[in-house]
This record gives sequence, structure tokens and C-alpha cells, in this order.
Amino acid sequence: MEIIKKDIRALSKEQLREFFVAQGDQEFRGNQVYEWLWNKGAHKFEDMTNISKQTRQMLEDHFVINHIEVDQMQRSNDGTIKNAVRLHDGLIVESVLIPTKKRTTACVSSQVGCSLDCKFCATSRLKRMRNLNPDEIFDQVVAIDKESRLYFNKPLTNIVFMGMGEPLMNYNNVLKAIDKITSPEGLGMSPKRIVVSTSGVPKMIKKMADDDVKFGLAVSLHSAIDDVRTSIMPFNATFPLADLREALEYWYAKTKNLITYEYVVWDGINDSKKDVEALIQFCKFAPSKVNLIEYNPIDDGQFQQADNAALDMYISMLEANNITVTVRRSRGKDIDAACGQLANKS
Ligand code: SF4
Repeated sequence: MEIIKKDIRALSKEQLREFFVAQGDQEFRGNQVYEWLWNKGAHKFEDMTNISKQTRQMLEDHFVINHIEVDQMQRSNDGTIKNAVRLHDGLIVESVLIPTKKRTTACVSSQVGCSLDCKFCATSRLKRMRNLNPDEIFDQVVAIDKESRLYFNKPLTNIVFMGMGEPLMNYNNVLKAIDKITSPEGLGMSPKRIVVSTSGVPKMIKKMADDDVKFGLAVSLHSAIDDVRTSIMPFNATFPLADLREALEYWYAKTKNLITYEYVVWDGINDSKKDVEALIQFCKFAPSKVNLIEYNPIDDGQFQQADNAALDMYISMLEANNITVTVRRSRGKDIDAACGQLANKS
């Protein structure tokens, strides 16, 4: 009978220590192996040079180390890098490294495909196949950190969960991955440099507030009018704006953290004065920042970026209401790495 070996990285440090004690070894061996797995990024038991050969063989008999491979790396004219990442079961997700003068940001995926169905997003065309495990999320970050050091001579500075998938639909694994990313035994990054971007799952936003998370929250809003939002993000019919707003009020009351809204202005969809007024009403209850994101059309051309006059109207009306507004130019368009374009096309 074939023994199905467990992924050793599914074990917590505590569980690893208990495993070694159960094997008649010492607790600290668990710490050593944990460090190899999470801090030194070992992909093979034989790499664990301060562990005896006999113990490494015992680990080999019980476990596997599932790890990702960067299957294909593409570099954009603007320096952006897109990784097609092969998971242990052969499925592919994408992650992106976005360099600017001051920082390098990793945009990572949380699911294979997506549970949601935003009409403007290429990922929505892929059905959700599964959630990523914490180690698969962590490994995307490690791979991008290495590329950041190699190509830009600096470690990764920021992470956004804005790749494939809705991170709050894979909340536990995203949280575990962030734990590893921020822990000194992992990458030791500050949680303040991490932003989880959600399309707005009210119950989970409240849970994040209750869990007292230290990373930032961004909401892909795109419209503050229910009918419009439902037409472009159909799950809004299930989680309407009133519920989202209530959850955000709860989040703000608990965390006092600024809320970032991701927002694309499309021609003929949300480019009127009424749309801006609704956005102001929606977000002015708490300190807010609106990121106006340049849109990258996907195949059918149904969605087109609004003209500069519409963008200027958004900027002036938001600023007049003391709402911070930034315009984010898209990066990596030539390699389909820009926002909303991730669809395993490479
Ligand atoms: S925008 Fe985000 S939540 Fe919506 S379908 Fe795309 S990946 Fe999923």
C-alpha cells in the first residue's frame, strides 16, 4: 500500500516539535527543521546539513516538502516581472513584481482561479480550482524577493494580495502565510508593508477587525451605487453596499486604520457626477484613500477606460471633500501582468 506523505510545511512549529518528541528525539530538533523550512527555504531534506543523515531519512519516510517552481518568468519593458508559478499538483498561478524608484512590490495570488465573477477581470474567466496553501503563498513572496534582490539590488519592500483570487475567501491560509512572512523565522517583514485587497466580503472584513490584524485593507469598490456595482461585480447582489459599508464602519471603529479603495473609472459605466457623489457619500465616514487605477482592457473590449475629463472630475470632487486620491498607472501591460489581466495566458 502506498503511503501518502504529508506536506511537512502544513505542520506548525509546535506540531513539528511534538513529532520529534514522539519519535524519541528532542524538541529543539523541531525548531531546527522549522528554520530550514521557513527561514532558509530548504526544498530537500538533504539540504538540512545540521540534521543527522538518519533523521533526514526518517523525515523523508514521513513527509514531502511541496514547493513551487517559477515555470516561466516574463519581464516587461517597464521592469515589471511576471512569474507563472507551477504548484506541486501542476496547477499554475501568477504573481508579479512591480519595481518603482523607492520600492519593489509583490502582487501575489491567493487562489487558483477565483470564486468571484467580476466582469472586467481576466481571472474571473478561470473557474476557482482550489485555495492556495499558506506555503504556496509564502513561496511566491520568497521567489519575488529573490528576483527583487537579483534585478533591483534590494529586498522586497511591499506585498499586495491583489493577484488571482479573493483573499478573504481563503482567509485562514492567507493569515497563516502572512504570519510566516512577518515572523522573524520567515521573512521578518513588517505587516504595515502588506495590504490585503478584497472585493468586499462583509463578514470577513469584520473577522479581520476582530482578529486585530496589523496589515492594511484595500477594497476594490469601483462603484458606490448598488445597481452599477452589481452589473460589474455580480456578487454585490449577495453582499450589497449597505452590508459592505457596515463592515467597514466596524473595521474602522476597531482599527482606526485608513481604508483604501481601488477604483477604475470606465467609459459610460461609472464616469458621471452622480457616481462620484455616491463614492464620496460611501467613504467619507472614515479617513479614506481612493486609488484611481488605469484600466487594461481584456479581450472583449466591453470595458474601456474613461477619458481624462472624467478622471479630473473624480480627482477634484474627492479632494474637495478631503478624500486622498492617487492615480495609479498600470505596469506590465505588455506581458499581461497589469491589474485585472492575470489569466495564465503566458
Ligand atoms: S477582480 Fe479579484 S475578486 Fe474579482 S474576479 Fe478578479 S481576482 Fe476575483
